[in-house]
Amino acid sequence: MAGRAKYRVLPGYALLCAAALLCSDVTRVLAAEDPTPGPVAVSNFPIASDVRLAGDAKQTRFVLDLDKSIQFRAFALADPYRVVVDLPQISFKLGAGAGTAGRGLIKAFRYGLVMPGGSRIVFDLTGPAKIAKSYVLEAANGQPPRLVLELEEVDRTSFVQALAAESRPELRPAIADANTAVPAEASTAPKPAAAPDPRPVVVIDPGHGGIDNGTQASGTMEKELVLGFGLALRDRIEKSGKYRVVMTRTDDTFIPLADRVKVARNQSAALFVSIHADALPRREGDAQGATIYTLSDKASDAEAERLAEAENKADAIGGVNLTEEPTEVADILIDLAQRETRTFSNRFARLLMGEMKTNVRMHKHPLKSAGFKVLKAPDVPSVLIELGYVSNKGDLEHLVSENWRSRTVGSMAQAIDAFFAKRLATAGTAN
Ligand SMILES: [Zn+2]
Repeated sequence: MAGRAKYRVLPGYALLCAAALLCSDVTRVLAAEDPTPGPVAVSNFPIASDVRLAGDAKQTRFVLDLDKSIQFRAFALADPYRVVVDLPQISFKLGAGAGTAGRGLIKAFRYGLVMPGGSRIVFDLTGPAKIAKSYVLEAANGQPPRLVLELEEVDRTSFVQALAAESRPELRPAIADANTAVPAEASTAPKPAAAPDPRPVVVIDPGHGGIDNGTQASGTMEKELVLGFGLALRDRIEKSGKYRVVMTRTDDTFIPLADRVKVARNQSAALFVSIHADALPRREGDAQGATIYTLSDKASDAEAERLAEAENKADAIGGVNLTEEPTEVADILIDLAQRETRTFSNRFARLLMGEMKTNVRMHKHPLKSAGFKVLKAPDVPSVLIELGYVSNKGDLEHLVSENWRSRTVGSMAQAIDAFFAKRLATAGTAN
């Protein structure tokens, strides 16, 4: 567990290796006008260049072409049935849409960075299966090195037995590049004594990341949009000097939901703002505009419920074994102790709407609530903002526009100022 804590709570500094590359990607996506790929950053990460699936519903084979041999670890997870392959950091150069169509036992798969130095592939299975064989073939006969995974159908009982027999998997990939691993002292050594910073802490939480792309449309991924937005919001509110801003992630890394909540708690945050973008399935028509969500036991409407369900799936998407997660945070009930926090959350949500509606197109029901796991820090007023719908043409144009972003960030900064001005005034007159 100590090993976990090391990289999990360090969105700020452990991520330099990937940040330069990925942030330039984000900027490029947000600029959006230039469809040509940007300059290729020089890295010596192994490159995955192609992928193939073969077989049927009894036996399915997965083959990944690489440019060099690698080490890896593969394991299965239940509920839902998945197979996870942890790898050193890989530069994936697979065709667009790779992994969306499955075959045999593999329903679909996704891949990406889960931590600096570590990539992961997560397979969604059609049913229980075992990893019959997994190996790396060295280059031979003009073929590149290949990672091969052979899955075989099993019944649930043998699947569960195999899981129990395995050593429990951790999120941390077993194989991390030694050059990018964080030295133990870096995180465990006591920090040099510094004057305590009395400013309120605002945590900005760009949703998704790494292997979890969030929603996407026309090649624009939610995780990139909201990271760009979050960084712009940070820059804006830091400029005033009135707040200390902490990001849950500053690059394309996967962060489990409970860890985002932990950042808010550990930092004794005074405000937690989670940033997302939504999408509506085509058959459900069109929706547009920004929506502000707070936490509630019962969703305010069906759409809020659908959304919370989708956002709460982030851990399953990233391949976190939820049964391994400490449940304290995920299962916190919304009890009386949280009433005051909820009052503050609702107050901030209303302030935010007041500021945003003059500058930003809002959803027709802009204030909603549902059971979002990421909003469950007990003492931290928390809201989740869906900036708009990537499935809506007009919203998507806004979301990738520098001008729109700047206006929206400005409204949010105003609302944050108003919130703290009022809180301080209230604190001054209380008791
Ligand atoms: Zn999201």
